Amino acid sequence: MTKAPFSAYVHFPFCEKKCDYCDFTSFAGRKADREPYIHALLQEIHTTANRTAVRVPLQTVYFGGGTPSLFSASQIHTVLSALDSSFGLSQDPEITMEVNPGTVNARSLCAYKESGVNRLSIGIQSLSDDLLRRIGRIHTAAEAKATIAGAMKAGFTNISCDLMTGLPGQTAEDALDSLDYLIRMGVPHLSFYALTLEEGTPMFLQYEKDKETLLPDDAERAMYHAMVGRLRDAGYLHYEISNAAKPGFFSRHNRTYWKALPYYGFGCGASGYRDDIREENTSDLSSYLQYMEDCPEELDRLRIDASPISADESRREYMLLGFRLLIEGVSEDEYRGRFGTEMLEDFASQLRVLSLQNLIEKKDHSYVLTAKGIDFANVVFREFVS
Ligand code: SF4
Repeated sequence: MTKAPFSAYVHFPFCEKKCDYCDFTSFAGRKADREPYIHALLQEIHTTANRTAVRVPLQTVYFGGGTPSLFSASQIHTVLSALDSSFGLSQDPEITMEVNPGTVNARSLCAYKESGVNRLSIGIQSLSDDLLRRIGRIHTAAEAKATIAGAMKAGFTNISCDLMTGLPGQTAEDALDSLDYLIRMGVPHLSFYALTLEEGTPMFLQYEKDKETLLPDDAERAMYHAMVGRLRDAGYLHYEISNAAKPGFFSRHNRTYWKALPYYGFGCGASGYRDDIREENTSDLSSYLQYMEDCPEELDRLRIDASPISADESRREYMLLGFRLLIEGVSEDEYRGRFGTEMLEDFASQLRVLSLQNLIEKKDHSYVLTAKGIDFANVVFREFVS
């Protein structure tokens, strides 16, 4: 793949406190490292741009974490300006920032709006105080609601909220109550993810030997389907396995990932994909800061991985990720345009077997997951793993 990236992900690996289920690259506290981190990011962005021969204006920028909202609007603006001066921003860019309730207020939300951010992704997870406590979130349901109201008052119209399913002790009623509130508030984009127990996290240690206290898979699936049904009834389009949105509010940035298109990744623990190479930065914050201070020109020292992606892997990634898109699926025409070969020839046996199992179906010139395929998506994905 030779296309220049038009998306950039910027990672902010700082949190007030680690949530009990989280294994993302993020560090609690470390306040003194925040300002140096902004300088390190600027170095990485400028050096990357200087070394990139073909640059196109960025159509999407995603400030993720961690908790980017621990940084001030002026720090966020500084990073956005560096991206603009290094790569340019397109006419109508989507600039998303993740926000955690408990770290923002009405004033800071207005300031983020003025800084150039035009889409917020708010980590709600649940609107039950009991469940929030159980998973170690720092905020209450009231703070989550105030964050949504504050974001709307600040003028954000493009808002996404994250919810979690399959939490210990969670009922379908809990999940639907949270969802109904967000629907009533007119939040136009919603993401819903099942809890996964990640090794090494406090929840893993707590529940590993006591798995019966976790929600059984079939109960989690029932919760998922009830939520999807509610969203459909309210006019949302279930466009990706874990995402639904009102028309016109699909995530443009995440589509870059689902379409296996190239993107830049900046920051400690960030990964990127360009020039047929998958890059991953060190997740050691001290090393990241040190490298960028000592020798900002030597980006290679940041990388813990820089693996070339073969043509076969690119094709498989296109299939594996593309099946997540429930409306678009994987397109024969797009595949041919991108890889110069026929999807039906490259993956003849996989497509035949999955169709016979009623996990995928053909719609016009694309293949999409069936209703059964959504529940057995991992079986479909496995067929395309190299
Ligand atoms: S706020 Fe997000 S990144 Fe930070 S600890 Fe919690 S889940 Fe992890």
